[in-house]
Amino acid sequence: MKIALVGIGKIAQDQHVPAISASPDWTLCATVSRAGSVPGIPAFTDMAQMLAACPDVGVVSLCLPPAPRFAYAEAALRAGRHVMLEKPPGATLAEVHALADLAQANGLTLFTTWHSRMAHAVQPAKAWLAGQTITRARIIWREDVRKWHPGQEWVFEPGGMGVFDPGINALSILTEILPAPVHLMGAELDCPANCQTPIAARLTFSGNVTADFDWRQTGPQTWDIEVETPAGHLALRMGGNRLMIDGVEIAGENSIMGEYPALYARMGELVARGQSEIDLAPMIHVADAMTLGRRLVTDPFHF
Ligand code: NAP
Repeated sequence: MKIALVGIGKIAQDQHVPAISASPDWTLCATVSRAGSVPGIPAFTDMAQMLAACPDVGVVSLCLPPAPRFAYAEAALRAGRHVMLEKPPGATLAEVHALADLAQANGLTLFTTWHSRMAHAVQPAKAWLAGQTITRARIIWREDVRKWHPGQEWVFEPGGMGVFDPGINALSILTEILPAPVHLMGAELDCPANCQTPIAARLTFSGNVTADFDWRQTGPQTWDIEVETPAGHLALRMGGNRLMIDGVEIAGENSIMGEYPALYARMGELVARGQSEIDLAPMIHVADAMTLGRRLVTDPFHF
């Protein structure tokens, strides 16, 4: 299938281009970006021009930050192209519903990707938890924003979601592996005095589930989810890539490099079957945290 990539920045270069290049199913035929490009691939700076010039490109994958993404997604769907969205799928829930309606009305595939759900140990963890009673679950997701988002001012602007940009990855795993849904009951949001979005957040959910997100962690990074059950203690480490049961490793790898190839394989299946996959559960928790969260002003942040 012929595909175009839109928003050639960090994640497009780190993951999307290598995943597409390595796959026999996909051919990267065009890029759309104001400044970025991929060597050897026709580069457009305007979405409408690309859509007009490349009628045979049936799939468009959007790697822009969430705030500007809607207009590009809408244009692609209106031009009859299947669309794959980076996480989080939009800046608001309503705009993703609008895209879902547009895709359905036009018989097109829309895929709201959650790359962390493709981590090696997520499905084994889900299988182990199936049918279990959860007595407690705890997310600890602490990383260094300067390392993972160098100079990306948009994360602290409205729609950038702040620490929920990585935190939503943890929530995408939580909502995949828990046997029953939980809902947010309270949140504290640490917002730098000069920023619009939080740099840290602590969430309390129903069912004795908590989350601790912090973007100020230097040194070793932490992407852990721990779940207590009467049958034992489950720990997902390395962002869902390693699984321990009662301290014994039973599945996983240290690499995150399998996540994007798996997303593109899934997109291929969805297009072939004429289906969409749209799951907003992780983003609903973030929207609820922004709604219920108590805002605590903290030190100004500068990259
Ligand atoms: P990025 O590098 O800051 O942005 C990607 C590209 O989008 C930019 O290079 C820019 O390309 C274009 N862009 C930025 N703002 C724009 C605007 N207002 N209008 C039009 N185009 C704009 O961000 P990223 O880190 O790749 O993240 C993009 C998405 O991927 C986010 O949703 C993020 O959550 C997700 N993601 C990121 C990572 C990561 O490690 N960074 C990991 C997984 C998922 P041009 O200047 O060339 O137009």
